[in-house]
Amino acid sequence: MFSLNNNPASSSSLKFYRGPVLRSLSDDFSEYFQDALIVIQKNGDGAGLIKAIGDAHKVAQEFKVDLSSLKKNTDLLMPAFFDTHFHWVQDDVRQMPKVSLIEWLERYTFPEEAKYSDRKFSSIKAKRFWQRILSVGTIGGLCYSSIHEIALEEAFKHAPEDFYIGNVLMTMNCPKEIRQSTDQACASVDNCAKRYKSRYVCSPRFAPTTCPEAMQASVAAAARHGCFQQTHLGETKKEIDWVLDIYSEIEGFQAVKTYTEIYERVKMLGPKTIFGHCIYLDESEWKLLADSGSRIASCPSSNAPIERLGIGSGLFDYEKAEEMKIPWSLASDIGGGPFLSMFDVMRSFVEQNKEAGRNTATFTKALHRCTYKGAELMNLSADRGMLKVGYYLDAIRVPIPPAMPAGVSAETVLEALICLLPSRESTDTFVNETIIRGKSCFRKEAVA
Ligand SMILES: [Zn+2]
Repeated sequence: MFSLNNNPASSSSLKFYRGPVLRSLSDDFSEYFQDALIVIQKNGDGAGLIKAIGDAHKVAQEFKVDLSSLKKNTDLLMPAFFDTHFHWVQDDVRQMPKVSLIEWLERYTFPEEAKYSDRKFSSIKAKRFWQRILSVGTIGGLCYSSIHEIALEEAFKHAPEDFYIGNVLMTMNCPKEIRQSTDQACASVDNCAKRYKSRYVCSPRFAPTTCPEAMQASVAAAARHGCFQQTHLGETKKEIDWVLDIYSEIEGFQAVKTYTEIYERVKMLGPKTIFGHCIYLDESEWKLLADSGSRIASCPSSNAPIERLGIGSGLFDYEKAEEMKIPWSLASDIGGGPFLSMFDVMRSFVEQNKEAGRNTATFTKALHRCTYKGAELMNLSADRGMLKVGYYLDAIRVPIPPAMPAGVSAETVLEALICLLPSRESTDTFVNETIIRGKSCFRKEAVA
């Protein structure tokens, strides 16, 4: 267990954490301390705020504590993850054969999601899934559920507070078991937004399966109850042909030229809407997203080639997004993505982008996009997602790679950490402890 020291000199509410720490401060800067000291202020509710963080000797001097009296942790402490696009109801199909997006949805995903109409099934799965996500170090994010309100209710029973979840709205071009009537979809999004408020994400699945009326109801419910919205955009070329074909026959949309324009017409674009994927966008679409302040969740392990267990969709152009000043973060997209761990997502991001010649695709950047930038996409970044003074202690404890002397760069430590993993499967059991706001919420030792 991560061990906190009391203040040896007084009985104040300050606690001291001593041990190796790695933190992310920007896309280009992460910091590694072989021996760090974090001073934590415990609030009345037990939550821990960071009062100081840095080299152990310097911080100890500042707070006038005797370092030799503080127990030193041996594992590495680093920031916990935010995953801004995943489907908790697809955890069991993440390893199913993937040929292409539409085939995979029809063959495995839609039949799987249909099972969540059953409360008992949903309840068992929810308990297991939300324990599992904490065990990989993810403490918050934006999540899709199936269409069913009972599955959503079960998810909210188990998901920690920084997970925002929405039942998908689907009214067309999908099997009848997971199809709502337009009236049902409109009523559901409004009821759920009213019930769960800002933790509810209005989630029209994507334009091919969700009629304009349901998307408009989503926009209205989100505005009325202060919710985020999420959907999919430009994941594959076949999907784009499909959606444009469908909308060429829908009244009021015949003149639409691009996928993004469909969302624009129903007024879904905006700073509280997160679009998943965004791989295939033309210049006018990038501009629509940028001008509206819309945000993007990119899912590299899901978009990866089929031989790397992805759907083979392509690679998100993060340089273009940054040039257009569009906020973006990394996400697992379980079950399109094969592994829930953000370590696997980081590895996939660096590997694919380096192969594409993007030298700014470092582990430092990947970590920043899986932590602080995820919190930022959710408007939580004032005090979440970074190990920094004034922020809550949101962290994970992982084994430290061997031979990491003082002075080695954080990028080297991160790379060694990822290389320490013997297989992609092993990312699932890599984290020893997960800490939310200074409170331990998963410990491997306790489960073993
Ligand atoms: Zn998705």
